[in-house]
Amino acid sequence: MIIGILKEIKPQENRVSMTPSGVDMMKTNGHTVYVEKNAGLGSGFEDHLYIKAGAAILDTPEEIYGISDMVMHVKEPQESEFSLIKKGQIVFTYLHLAADKDLTHALLKTGSIGIAYETIEDRNGRLPLLAPMSEVAGRLATQQGAKYLERTFGGQGLLLGGVTGTPPANVLIIGGGVVGIHAARVACGMGANVTVLDMNLDRLRYLSEIMPANCQALMSSPALIKDLVKTSDLVVGAVLIAGAKAPKLITKQMLSTMKKGSVIVDVAIDQGGCFETSRPTTHGDPVYEVDGVIHYSVANMPGAVPLTSTIALTNATLPYALKIANNGWKAVCKDHGFAKGVNYVSDKLVCKPVADAFSMNY
Ligand code: NAD
Repeated sequence: MIIGILKEIKPQENRVSMTPSGVDMMKTNGHTVYVEKNAGLGSGFEDHLYIKAGAAILDTPEEIYGISDMVMHVKEPQESEFSLIKKGQIVFTYLHLAADKDLTHALLKTGSIGIAYETIEDRNGRLPLLAPMSEVAGRLATQQGAKYLERTFGGQGLLLGGVTGTPPANVLIIGGGVVGIHAARVACGMGANVTVLDMNLDRLRYLSEIMPANCQALMSSPALIKDLVKTSDLVVGAVLIAGAKAPKLITKQMLSTMKKGSVIVDVAIDQGGCFETSRPTTHGDPVYEVDGVIHYSVANMPGAVPLTSTIALTNATLPYALKIANNGWKAVCKDHGFAKGVNYVSDKLVCKPVADAFSMNY
């Protein structure tokens, strides 16, 4: 198979979808890899490293789309790329279609096959290609939250863990999955007073067993969220309903009850966000304020730490890319979990949560 590795074009996105060692693995399996010029630069992988691993470098996305059976990205294709996608081409990347109707319609017109990293499941129903980026985003959520609580960044001037004789910050994490547990670990390590909410009893049991004493895990409910936001200094939105739009758990009215200078980090923004007042931001302009509450809602948080993120991501995606390249996407679909990654085939949506998000046929 001919595989094309595209340079990311979303603002401030420095990750790349394959490392030179991934290229080497593809070559060993008999495949041809083309890498767009400077695609790996932001992650510290210069073109000569890809050439050494056996890839050829092409100058433009037009050339990559033109020659490849499967193109790989990190983020969803952007408007300038829609006309370049070929009929029958496999587009293997994060797609997050449920949050973007225009993107969904545009891709359905291309005649390609869209396989989304974020909806592939493993045997236990977990999301193995979302997990590594969720780990990064979770840890970063607390790190960014702590930063924006500083006075110079517009926050109330509170040190997350406090010091001797001063109270620590109250950190509320809604969703105790991969993002939630990593955000909670960092917050606990910094000494904050942490509450994690989830709807899944098994998950709550697990969190209660493994988290330290400064973390409580509670059953999520609208009434409890309404109550807790009033005393929270940092709220992290980390919920997920696979493939579907995030539920709005904090309304504008609830936001108005929060302390001035408190911070919300909506990690779920890539699924539409779980706060009513959230809108996507970029690393270049990451925050804005509503009712005195700082909102951080960068849709590609792991892009801030591309050295860590690229390696973590490609560790997880490469085995799937190899399976597609070795067997073709139809054969790989015999694996039920992999089949869940296929979001659309030509002009048909085949992912139920995406179709449901737009009341479209599936
Ligand atoms: P996950 O499936 O591991 O965890 C989600 C958790 O949310 C689950 O435990 C689920 O039970 C819980 N949940 C669902 N509804 C809830 C509710 N009403 N109240 C409380 N908990 C609820 O998912 P994850 O990997 O942790 O991802 C979380 C979100 O972060 C997703 O939307 C994902 O797309 C997003 N994400 C964003 C970025 C970014 O850069 N912004 C990066 C990675 C992940």
